[in-house]
Amino acid sequence: MTLSRWVGAHVSAQGGVANAPINAANIGATAFALFTKNQRRWMASPLTAKEIDTFKQNCVAYGFSPAQILPHDSYLINLGHPEPELLAKSREAFVDEMQRCEQLGLTLLNFHPGSHLRKIPEALCLRNIADSINVALDQTQGVTAVIENTAGQGSNLGHQFEQLAQIIEHVEDKARVGICLDTCHMFAAGYDIRTTDACEASFNLFDTVVGYQFLKGMHLNDCKSAFGSRVDRHDSLGFGSIGKTAFEFIMQHPATTHIPLILETVRPEIWPDEIRWLQSHSR
Ligand SMILES: [Zn+2]
Ligand SMILES: [Zn+2]
Repeated sequence: MTLSRWVGAHVSAQGGVANAPINAANIGATAFALFTKNQRRWMASPLTAKEIDTFKQNCVAYGFSPAQILPHDSYLINLGHPEPELLAKSREAFVDEMQRCEQLGLTLLNFHPGSHLRKIPEALCLRNIADSINVALDQTQGVTAVIENTAGQGSNLGHQFEQLAQIIEHVEDKARVGICLDTCHMFAAGYDIRTTDACEASFNLFDTVVGYQFLKGMHLNDCKSAFGSRVDRHDSLGFGSIGKTAFEFIMQHPATTHIPLILETVRPEIWPDEIRWLQSHSR
């Protein structure tokens, strides 16, 4: 029996969020990611009732349930910010992102945990991140906060599975927190996935330290940078330093069914081929 896996890409929402499901359908996707606002700005005008309706209608028309959609928040937000005023600003923007998802009927929001900017200890930053998640979960309903593992570039936390586990430990509502594993970030952070044996070891470690019950999505990217370099540079599948084995492994793993598997690879023109190739390895 072939298990159903939801595969897609981070598609454009240019011209309005309702275009994202259309763009996803056009590349043969069964999952997609999107920004619900401009990811490089703090503020955005609220979604109109018409935008929300059209988005929901298009999702139904093209066969995307909320479980197949993994929105990504703005790059400006730092939920572990060392300075109280800027931490508050990030929290406010994050609550807005969660509320936009709620309005769109979406159930997941993917975000990068945060950075200590070398101003506070790591443990305090992780605690700030967990508290930020608690604040956002308090003010919203039905949306799970999905923490993305990072490459560990600069002072970004969340590159070690232990850090992800520590954040989750301090989140009050464990039913509404999860993890999105990005393969490029994993590899750059020092988790080898170049061979089947290496994949077994790295994924088992994730299960031991964090737990598959928290795995709510994945970003499938090859990596331009070297193993353990902590440099975040995505590449097309099979073109980078990871190679294709990891993606075959993922497409056959029981923990990756019924979660969005999202390409953030560098050549959108080959997304249809990458999606077809991934689906052909699903078992
Ligand atoms: Zn991301
Ligand atoms: Zn990612």
